[in-house]
Amino acid sequence: MAKLFKCSVCRFVYEGEEAPEFCPKCGAPREKFEELTEEQANKIYSSDRTNDIHMEIVQLAMRIIELAKEGIEIDLDPPCVDLFKKAIKEAWIIKQRSKAELEGHMTKGKF
Ligand SMILES: [Zn+2]
Repeated sequence: MAKLFKCSVCRFVYEGEEAPEFCPKCGAPREKFEELTEEQANKIYSSDRTNDIHMEIVQLAMRIIELAKEGIEIDLDPPCVDLFKKAIKEAWIIKQRSKAELEGHMTKGKF
């Protein structure tokens, strides 16, 4: 596993053998970087995967909304239209829940 270095100025996390000469995000010099412990690094890797899953869930929920809108347009019969309307509401909740969680991670500096 590569080493991780965190910029103490902007919290950018760099992956590599050593800290970069300058932070790719804020331009701070190498001295501003701290090497993360293995435990901290593992946390970052597992939160990366968790964030990817949240993002995929958001995309799938958006796809459900698209499909349900198409179904409403086709308008085969009222029960189908009702079901699609419910699907839109439910997918919206799923999407917003994952988005809120992602935003929470970002403000807590989890990744
Ligand atoms: Zn930085």
